[in-house]
Amino acid sequence: MKVAVFSTRSYDRYFLDRANIANNSPHQLEYFETKLNSKTASLANGFPCVCIFVNDVADQTTLKILAEQGTELIALRCAGYNMIDAQAASELGLRVVRVPAYSPYAVAEHAVGLILMLNRKLNKAYNRVRDDNFTLDGLLGFDLHKSTVGVIGTGNIGTIFAQIMQGFGCHLLGYDVNPNEDFTAIAGAKYVDLPELLAKSDIISLHCPLVPSTYHLINQETIQQMKQGVMLINTSRGQLVNTRAVIDGIKSGRIGYVGLDVYEEEDELFFEDHSNNIIQDDTFQLLQSFQNVVITAHQAFFTKDALIAIAQTTIANISSWEQGNELINEVKVSETN
Ligand code: NAD
Repeated sequence: MKVAVFSTRSYDRYFLDRANIANNSPHQLEYFETKLNSKTASLANGFPCVCIFVNDVADQTTLKILAEQGTELIALRCAGYNMIDAQAASELGLRVVRVPAYSPYAVAEHAVGLILMLNRKLNKAYNRVRDDNFTLDGLLGFDLHKSTVGVIGTGNIGTIFAQIMQGFGCHLLGYDVNPNEDFTAIAGAKYVDLPELLAKSDIISLHCPLVPSTYHLINQETIQQMKQGVMLINTSRGQLVNTRAVIDGIKSGRIGYVGLDVYEEEDELFFEDHSNNIIQDDTFQLLQSFQNVVITAHQAFFTKDALIAIAQTTIANISSWEQGNELINEVKVSETN
């Protein structure tokens, strides 16, 4: 089947080609480096399947164009589904599949990496030693052992993250609208309501999806409820966090450390080389000017193991639809509210 694959880089093509060749009846994958949006949707004219990634724009206008051009299946190469208007897709008769779990370890481990980097100031320490400066002033950290870690969203990634932090000897608090017994099975982990998690955690890590009810979950009001000097980690989706409120929280000292792999307005920046451009996003520039902020460009998923799994599940999802089989990884409108 003809598949228009948007937002592709060399690594996407490499792993998708390998998974596709291994498939019994390989699909015809046509790669586009550009993002999908209403202006580029015409590239997919005549393609029954369109395959997209986190910063593509599958809004109602774009989906309508795709449907009119003959697209019937949208295959997301990711777990999150906030970039697609699932209601509009359903009304247009488009089926939507995703990769619900590829390597939760990749994302959980990256969140831990951000914590270690922020706490022990590894970014500064690395540069200092490269500069033949062997002083320790300004590099003081704290023991993770016995600190309290709040996990918001205890699904696949949140629970693995919690297991790793348990290994450091942390106390674990969880908040989730659907409690998960794998989380409570972790020694010492317990569920609390959101205000208690905010008030007691030294480190707060976000692992819930971006849906209308979680948009700006971290805002002026929730930040006020956090411990003085808290560490905030977001490897989930940028719009879970009101960035202006976080900046105010950093300036007031309420937030002591911020580690982000995602950013509210990342679709204008991430996955592109802007090193020769003037970045126009003043909020982003201000955010990254703080010494206690570390930002990575949506790379938490980016391990070999994850890319192999993403490619295999994506190809399997497309084959299932082509063969009229049950779509086990279908995104249902009811999940997206
Ligand atoms: P999951 O579905 O297994 O877990 C999400 C959990 O969040 C569920 O337990 C759910 O009940 C909970 N949740 C939903 N609404 C909530 C709310 N209002 N408050 C608290 N909890 C709520 O998903 P997952 O595989 O663990 O992935 C989590 C998120 O990580 C994804 O939605 C995606 O946005 C993000 N992600 C980021 C990257 C990256 O590279 N940075 C990669 C993959 C996934």
